[in-house]
Amino acid sequence: MIRLHDVNKTYPGSVPLHVLKDINLTIEKGELVSIMGASGSGKSTLLNILGILDNYDTGDYYLNNVLIKNLSENKAAELRNRLIGFVFQSFNLISYKNAVENVALPLFYQGVSRKRRNRLAMEQLDRMGLADRAHHLPGELSGGQKQRVAIARSLITDPSVILADEPTGALDSHTSKEVMQIFRELNVNKGMTIVIVTHDPVVGGQTNRIIRITDGRITDHV
Ligand code: ADP
Ligand code: MG
Repeated sequence: MIRLHDVNKTYPGSVPLHVLKDINLTIEKGELVSIMGASGSGKSTLLNILGILDNYDTGDYYLNNVLIKNLSENKAAELRNRLIGFVFQSFNLISYKNAVENVALPLFYQGVSRKRRNRLAMEQLDRMGLADRAHHLPGELSGGQKQRVAIARSLITDPSVILADEPTGALDSHTSKEVMQIFRELNVNKGMTIVIVTHDPVVGGQTNRIIRITDGRITDHV
């Protein structure tokens, strides 16, 4: 499902930074994997490339057998919206929209009717155990509840893969465990492909494969 062949990326600047070096990586459909490495090792850059949020310089990236390279912004946005669900450390919820509106938002961009997107968003929130919080604003929710809203939002378009960048980084250890439990259930029960970037070994240990990255190089697959 995800295939990278000799991918390199350099951030330009007065001192160019070669941030990803000859990355070769395959992630199969239905895998639950983590990408682990020290701060600054290139984890977020790699995840942003996987999520078609950023470009790379050389090599090839295939997502569902489609070469993701030199796409127009429109084409990239279309593929991103259709294939990928994102979960972030800081939740990235819209503060003036309530939980159900946040979850429904990706469907707005797909032109789904208001009635249908609200119904689907309520169903997702219900699965996350948050039906009773549907009309609360993010500021009225706990960290764990906010992340569950964000996970519901990532699932609403029925993506091929969930990409999560430090999804437990802002949570206490108990809540972090709950969020990882949700990812594990999505993986086991729905066969969802999930890629989690983390520097937390406890989080990495709850995935089925750890991909280690050191200074922009993949150093070891467990
Ligand atoms: P990680 O997520 O593992 O902490 P990142 O992928 O965010 O690492 O960053 C890797 C390196 O690239 C760091 O040295 C960071 O400062 C640098 N970097 C990240 N984004 C940019 C950017 N947009 N422009 C220039 N340098 C960047
Ligand atoms: Mg990062």
